[in-house]
Amino acid sequence: MAVKQTAGRDSLGQFAPEFARLNDDVLFGEVWSREEALGLRDRSLVTVVALMAQGLVDESFRYHLTTAKHNGITRGEIAEILTHAAFYAGWPKAWAAFRMAKDVWADGEGGDGKARHQREMVFPIGAPNDAYAQYFVGQSYLAPLSTSQVGVYNVTFEPGCRNNWHIHHAKSGGGQVLLCLAGRGWYQEEGKAARELRPGDVVNIPAGVKHWHGAAADSWFSHLALEVPGEETRNEWCEPVSEAQYRALG
Ligand code: MN
Repeated sequence: MAVKQTAGRDSLGQFAPEFARLNDDVLFGEVWSREEALGLRDRSLVTVVALMAQGLVDESFRYHLTTAKHNGITRGEIAEILTHAAFYAGWPKAWAAFRMAKDVWADGEGGDGKARHQREMVFPIGAPNDAYAQYFVGQSYLAPLSTSQVGVYNVTFEPGCRNNWHIHHAKSGGGQVLLCLAGRGWYQEEGKAARELRPGDVVNIPAGVKHWHGAAADSWFSHLALEVPGEETRNEWCEPVSEAQYRALG
């Protein structure tokens, strides 16, 4: 299966279209996609070690660590890989790489990611969002903050969690406002590029617009969801965000 990548075109499509094409279509579309020759897990291992050897521990390194985790490299294995590479690439480079790897592999193993996330915001994470679980991929949490006048809910997504495509319908008024509180997430309207969300960001979602929101693959994420009052408001839940589409976000 071909690896779908749009990072080149998203970042450099206008400035350097040929570099963007080589990045998305050749490096990811052809080289990364030759799974019959070398699997994704092994390609991740090679890539992480090559980046670490250059002392490159920026967001692209975080992306490749997250991808390595998705491709099946465990916490124990990444610790062994970086320890081994440290002797050939250099001790300080391993130190720098470990700082980020510790972060990427923290969630889901030991479970302190949730507690750390809670310390970053004043509103509670709340209870597992069981009532809406069928419309989410991954675990979400819900804390109702206001249930009169204007409904305000704190919605928390574990890393990789997102809701399905959906539409907030209304005859008039309606829609939703998201106030981002903690972590890193994504918002996407149908037919548009996904927008990265950070604490302090505000998203106005008009009624009738198909969209989804959720956490980044490597981060917990919380936003307040405000229900904008309107006439005949209702939600329509659609298909999940595909794994390929979500993974391409980084
Ligand atoms: Mn929504």
